[in-house]
Amino acid sequence: MTSQQLFDQAVQVLPGGVNSPVRAFRAVNLVPQFIQRAQGARVCDVEGREYLDYVCSWGPMILGHNHPAIREAVEQAVKDGLSFGAPTQREVEMAQLMVELVPHIEMVRMVNSGTEAVMSAVRLARGATGRDKILKFEGCYHGHSDCLLVNAGSSALAGGYPSSAGVPADVARHTLTAQFNDLAGVEALLEAYPGQVACVLVEPVAANMGVIPPAPDFLPGLRRLCDRHGALLIFDEVITGFRLGLGGAQDYFGVRADIVTFGKIIGGGMPVGAYCASRALMEQVAPCGAVYQAGTLSGNPVAMAAGLAQLRWLRDHPEVYSHIDRLAALLAEGLEGAAERAGAAVSVNRIGSLLAPFFTPSPVSAFVDAKGSDVGKYAQYFANMLDRDIYLAPAQFEAMFLSAAHSEEDVARTISAAEESLAGLS
Ligand SMILES: *Cc1c(COP(=O)(O)O)cnc(C)c1O
Repeated sequence: MTSQQLFDQAVQVLPGGVNSPVRAFRAVNLVPQFIQRAQGARVCDVEGREYLDYVCSWGPMILGHNHPAIREAVEQAVKDGLSFGAPTQREVEMAQLMVELVPHIEMVRMVNSGTEAVMSAVRLARGATGRDKILKFEGCYHGHSDCLLVNAGSSALAGGYPSSAGVPADVARHTLTAQFNDLAGVEALLEAYPGQVACVLVEPVAANMGVIPPAPDFLPGLRRLCDRHGALLIFDEVITGFRLGLGGAQDYFGVRADIVTFGKIIGGGMPVGAYCASRALMEQVAPCGAVYQAGTLSGNPVAMAAGLAQLRWLRDHPEVYSHIDRLAALLAEGLEGAAERAGAAVSVNRIGSLLAPFFTPSPVSAFVDAKGSDVGKYAQYFANMLDRDIYLAPAQFEAMFLSAAHSEEDVARTISAAEESLAGLS
């Protein structure tokens, strides 16, 4: 069967033919490839065509697809049964390893997705502070729980409004929205709602509006403002965790967060999330404390086997980080050069192994800059790259991910494909 045939069937039984919206390729007006298998830096569709992959399952596949260490750990776990609904040894080992590698955390609660991790972290912050309001940043994504699907736009001071149908205004009004990299805006909100804000929630590197690194004083400034106003600082490290390095953004930027959330990489390709904090905070979670949160499949033995194998591999092979960071730097530089030669207005942001080309001539350091990119041009570029067997995120406002399986040769091929693709833009 072809992808088109599968998609025609899919749209009859799955909304938009998919189980997560961006997979539907609507932002690029194409029919998505149905993927059959993947190996290393390559994914292969149902028609047998192979692509060099820069989506990497949206970040988790930092070691490349079908890594033997992870596959073998999963095979071993499967032999013993899929789920017991009872504690297992791997959950303890996973939490011990995370506490060892991530600064400032003493306890961990495993969940099944990034959405669940951040939703639960916010509940913990509210429970611990006895405050209802939360502060997030426009263009940051924290999963699809009600209070986080808010994108306040115009009147942040007046409180949020829902950006999804189905989110009650009564819920959204507790979510305040500031601009990423704008400390003064955060300060104004904290002063406008004194003693009411439970937490400031941030992606330490904004990676869901393309990629926007924090300005040098932004994260330290958030720390200071949270301390001054008695709010907890939550780093949503669902993307940056174990991607910027073993210690995540706290280590990379030298800024302590009160609660840290993880997902994506810590599952090694399985559905896993986690929220972590000091013992004093985490012991407020059930069954120790009054903040209720539970999960039938949380800490699932097969998922833990995959996540543990991936984190152990990263711990034992620190050269993975120098490799992916170096390739990302080569790629960012190469894309800038390709754009220049092709006469295309592209601005590339990169930090560690995360990068994003924006179709705008201006530097991108804020949401409003990212919104200034030409998404029509991105769609054409995407299609041109796909024709050259390079699989990018099917939307401008996503990151490109490098993995340990990508090579310098892959990057060189990507840069020449990009030059051709950019030259062909209308
Ligand atoms: C992907 C993502 C989430 C949501 O994780 P899911 O596993 O898709 O629910 C939350 N926060 C950030 C920063 C993410 O990138």
